[in-house]
Amino acid sequence: MSVKISLIGAGSAVFSLSLIRDLCLTPNLQGSTVTFMDINEQRLDAAYTLCKRYAEEVGITLNLEKTTDRRQALQGADFVINTALVAGHHRLREGWQIAREHGYRIGGSLHIMHDEAFWINFYQYSLFDSIMQDMQEICPEAYFLLVANPVLAGITALGRKYPHIKMVGLCHGFGGVYHLAQILGFDREGLTFEIPGVNHFVWLTHAYHNGRDIMPLINEWRATQSTEYWKTSQASNGMGPAAFDLYERFGAFPIGDTCTPGGGSWPHWYHTDADTEARWQEDPEGWWNWYFPYLDKNIAQIHEAAYNREARVTDLIPPKFSGELFITMIESIACDIPRVLIGNIPNTGDFVPGIPRNIAVEIPTLVSKRGIQGIQTHKLPEPILAYALRDRVAPVEMELLAYETGDKKLLRQLILMDPYTRSEQQAEAFLDAILALPYHEEMRTHYR
Ligand code: NAD
Repeated sequence: MSVKISLIGAGSAVFSLSLIRDLCLTPNLQGSTVTFMDINEQRLDAAYTLCKRYAEEVGITLNLEKTTDRRQALQGADFVINTALVAGHHRLREGWQIAREHGYRIGGSLHIMHDEAFWINFYQYSLFDSIMQDMQEICPEAYFLLVANPVLAGITALGRKYPHIKMVGLCHGFGGVYHLAQILGFDREGLTFEIPGVNHFVWLTHAYHNGRDIMPLINEWRATQSTEYWKTSQASNGMGPAAFDLYERFGAFPIGDTCTPGGGSWPHWYHTDADTEARWQEDPEGWWNWYFPYLDKNIAQIHEAAYNREARVTDLIPPKFSGELFITMIESIACDIPRVLIGNIPNTGDFVPGIPRNIAVEIPTLVSKRGIQGIQTHKLPEPILAYALRDRVAPVEMELLAYETGDKKLLRQLILMDPYTRSEQQAEAFLDAILALPYHEEMRTHYR
């Protein structure tokens, strides 16, 4: 089945390789046109060249194009994937440094010491909005797959403003359930589960392996095997003491980035100071110090594989599915192969009871030619729902309100929601320091 896929932000350090591999390993999409789009010509050319060579080596026919012109990329698109990060990781880090100087820590911080920091989100919202405007005009029937963060705020805002556009947010964090199953001794075949919530706040409420309830084994593993496992496991890895403590407190297990650095290492009580973190085997700063160089390595790997004519690209990057969902989802829709896939869509059908209907939820969806249909989930435990509303939904609402109105006072209110804010003066000084950065002129003008 040939379709047209437009990749916005095709040079992404996280997703480029996975996209290219999965695309080339999906024979059902043979003959498709894929337009790579990025504003960085070097990254664009490397991703495009790599994909061309990869397709030739695995023997799949794809019509590949590249452009720096987004409107051109959208012409005739059936699927638009957005992995673009406008402001870049260096700006995230520079903002974090200022935040540290104003008393903020990673660990339960809301939109500050978080990779969805408000000074990054601002540019993302503007990009998302302009892609929607273009899609309405150029390819209104296309599906929009949002992979770039912030997925929760992005799908929430766009779902409200552009309800007629078919959209879904994708996050690979749910794959943490396979890691949990693995340490309990089960493979992914035969595993069924439910992980409702909102992006970066999803909780395993039940899991079965070939019909056997494996939830009781979580506590058994903790009692009998965790000490040995934690002796050698990396800090802040999602299977640490904090995750199991949360399970004991609330009766559902935090999955993916719910309590890991990628989602801001919620909640703050495991991170109040260095000693507390050490007790819980948490080290989010160390995790980020590993993550940023890892992204640089990915970019170097793409360049090496794209331009090293001596080596076969399939030797450098073995042909193996990545586990990301974007290409699988496109195949399901284009070729009518029904699958249940985890996606972020507005909670219009009350799929996660207790989350407002105009907020995006992360749930199982039935994906086929009919589209992306939400599946009803069981309720989250009440205490988790309370935290979801306080620590994920409320900050997103406050930030979107600030963004829509351009009201700087509301941005300050967002900062006042953070558990590390002690006074209004601290919030004010921190906000002014961020806005004073020379490259934030657009944001300074927006927030009055
Ligand atoms: P990156 O900086 O390596 O890549 C982003 C790409 O976007 C770059 O090639 C850049 O040139 C391009 N870009 C910037 N502005 C653009 C524009 N206006 N139009 C087109 N392209 C543009 O970033 P990354 O580490 O690959 O992360 C990308 C995004 O994915 C981030 O938002 C990150 O938070 C998010 N992310 C999502 C998940 C998930 O599972 N959903 C996981 C990890 C990261």
